[in-house]
Amino acid sequence: MSDGEHSILAPSDAERWARCVGALLMSKGVEEPDKEYSASGTCSHFILERSLKDQLNPDIFLGQTMEFNGFKFVIDQDRIERVRATMVNIYREPGQMWVEHLLNTSPVLDVPNQIGHADIIKVDPIGEVIIKEQSYIGVLSVHDFKDGYLRVMAQDNLQGLLYLASALYEWDLATDIQALRFCIHQPKIGHYDEWSYTRKEIEDFTVAIRPAAKLAYQLYYGIVKFDPAQHLSAGDTQCFWCPVRGRCPARAQRIVGLFADAITAHEIDDVRLAQLYVRLEEIEQACKDYRIEAHRRAMMGRPIAGQKLVRGNKGKRKWAEPGRAESAMALLVPDDKMYQPRELISPTQAEKNLREHYASVQPFVTQSEGGLVLVPVDDPRAAVELPKFNILPEELPQ
Ligand code: SF4
Repeated sequence: MSDGEHSILAPSDAERWARCVGALLMSKGVEEPDKEYSASGTCSHFILERSLKDQLNPDIFLGQTMEFNGFKFVIDQDRIERVRATMVNIYREPGQMWVEHLLNTSPVLDVPNQIGHADIIKVDPIGEVIIKEQSYIGVLSVHDFKDGYLRVMAQDNLQGLLYLASALYEWDLATDIQALRFCIHQPKIGHYDEWSYTRKEIEDFTVAIRPAAKLAYQLYYGIVKFDPAQHLSAGDTQCFWCPVRGRCPARAQRIVGLFADAITAHEIDDVRLAQLYVRLEEIEQACKDYRIEAHRRAMMGRPIAGQKLVRGNKGKRKWAEPGRAESAMALLVPDDKMYQPRELISPTQAEKNLREHYASVQPFVTQSEGGLVLVPVDDPRAAVELPKFNILPEELPQ
């Protein structure tokens, strides 16, 4: 297979290459920084795939050790429960099911040799969806299992749209499909989201995505000359998982730009503070990225002006030979000075260990109220009303 036959426009990476067409070229050959995180996701996907394909109870994987991309995972009850919750939701929807289905994305992107894997596809020719008060019969759904903490929404999700458009292309001759739905399952954070599109909306998406896909592909293979000023476009979404985010000039410019307004003002007013506040996570992540990048370069022997490598704090001391240490200590001190007292496990650990029996100890649990935290207005938690200051007339200064 020649280099030009590579599938590079992965649907799971679509938010990046479609919003920043130079990103794929910039990160060519650069290792994925969060390898363990994605290996853990692959592990959960494997259990889901096997359980659905072979109609297994996921419990059979409990306690097994699995290895993905060099990382080992012991399958615990939590992981099993996340897979089970996703399975229950998927089984609930009627229609024929395809698991871990290979989709040809080339006809949608108009770029050769591109593929993607959809976790689950369901096709229900008599299923009905109501979109903007209009009924559509013939539904194709793509279900995406995400075993991470970062909440992902289904509406306008480029990964989902690309799956739907490619699946529509594949099923179009076999079934009359009028509506398409993208469903996100994130049991780790108790999140499920779905969004339905009409066939026309998916067809419009296909037309809209092509220019970006084509340009990203041409830049990657040197068919079009790369111009950072023109082809890099930094943003919260596309830079978040980009492996070159710690060294990309466009991203650095964006982070600095976030303060541009603030530093020209006489004082940071409430509006500017709010604008900065919603960007804090991005700014904090950027700081972390620059630390990692500087450390990486220093470790390669590249000088980082004004910095040097030193040994950090030593690790926690532990017994190299606990048996011999115990015998030696027994000659020197009494038992109560040698052993740690037994301690009751925490309620969190008890819930994990006791499972359905946790209810019997729950009355003995106490928990303090959480402190007040500032979160985006669309956070599902109810807003806390602060007490109003009621000044009685007699308290007013005379
Ligand atoms: S860090 Fe952002 S701007 Fe830079 S290449 Fe990646 S996605 Fe594009």
